[in-house]
Amino acid sequence: MCGIYGICQDKECISSLMKGIFQLQHRGQRFCGMTTSNGKKLYFKEPLSGLVKQGLALAEFKGEMGIAHVSLKERQPLLVEKSKLEEFAIAFSGKIYNREELEEEYEIFSSRAPSTEILAKIIRRNGTFAEGIEKIFEIAKGGYSLVIISPNEGIYAARDPYGFRPCVLGKRDKKFAIASESVALEKIGMKVIRDLQPGEIVLITKNGFQTVNQLMRKEAFCSFEWAYFARISSVLEGIPVKRARMNMGKALASRDNVEADLVAPIPFSGIGHALGYARASGIPYEEVFEYNRYSDRSYMPLEQEKRTEIAEEKLSEIDETIKGNRIIIIDDSIVRATQIRKLIYRLKEKGAKEVHVRIASPPLVAPCRYNISTRQGAELVAANHSLDEIKKMIGADTLRYNELDDFVRAIGLPKEKLCLACFGEKYPL
Ligand code: SF4
Repeated sequence: MCGIYGICQDKECISSLMKGIFQLQHRGQRFCGMTTSNGKKLYFKEPLSGLVKQGLALAEFKGEMGIAHVSLKERQPLLVEKSKLEEFAIAFSGKIYNREELEEEYEIFSSRAPSTEILAKIIRRNGTFAEGIEKIFEIAKGGYSLVIISPNEGIYAARDPYGFRPCVLGKRDKKFAIASESVALEKIGMKVIRDLQPGEIVLITKNGFQTVNQLMRKEAFCSFEWAYFARISSVLEGIPVKRARMNMGKALASRDNVEADLVAPIPFSGIGHALGYARASGIPYEEVFEYNRYSDRSYMPLEQEKRTEIAEEKLSEIDETIKGNRIIIIDDSIVRATQIRKLIYRLKEKGAKEVHVRIASPPLVAPCRYNISTRQGAELVAANHSLDEIKKMIGADTLRYNELDDFVRAIGLPKEKLCLACFGEKYPL
């Protein structure tokens, strides 16, 4: 995953930019970077490994506008030296899945080159910034939101024509910003104005937002944002993530008849779902795992196994609520089943009488084409195993996933406006 931020205001923006991108830290913990401008030149530093508060030094940046990025995979923003366009910097969130075709056409000689390098070349070859972005919309297949900072013009922001990745516009007095999630605008005192539309290109200056172009929009918003990626305090396409998660939990409870003493989340992404389940079923909500907020977060490896290991280290069992109880544990999804298997083992070792697993999303059976992801098709346990096999594999007494239709209803958008490809529906693109 990754997150983008862009801001223009009538005074120094560095502190607001830093606070804003910090609110998106959950979308990428491996690299972070910023580029700012005072309208004359760019202030660019090579993006760094690590977290925002450890990596970015405020004193190195100046100006009234800036862009910032957090990522699990690529160092961004990318600085693009002067060509027929002035010097600019670009950052994007998402994934281009036909990059091999584009590499050849745009003379990218390393498959390890960042995707921003391809996007920057497309822009440089195609006239103005807006024309370059339109070309990206035409030829780059995938899901993405992007920001470009140009000292003379301002910040361009764009969202792919399907709107896979979220992107929100916010404002306060003479301060205008764009962010991957609404929480990152509200935390710096801004009001959310609206979501950027799929296929929309916007120019942000200290005078406001201006839609430069609106290409044909098709709408395939990533449904998994509401179940897992986004923060529970965010609102996407006007739908609060908390509400969607509560609804997913309620839907699970409405089809359930298991008898249990308590409902517990796997922190943090299972919390909203578990609250919804508890409210609908009348079974008390309790915590069986404590999350250690002080555990080391300085390095987040790319390999899923190591990430799982770190995640497990952060959870401690709360013996008092486990021993002798029939527990329903709720999580957003099951990827490889390794983490949940270990957690169930730990609950049973601590004396849980029964452990029933409820999963807020439908089974993950296909990889994502539109986002950086560590999950490959062959690694997805639900792609190769039946429900009963998974139940036995993880050591649960019972296992249920949400039905696809319930999941869609819980979000509250029509099915045709959502991407549901990783749950076995057709890839929109
Ligand atoms: S495939 Fe899944 S994770 Fe990827 S955009 Fe679609 S719903 Fe989201």
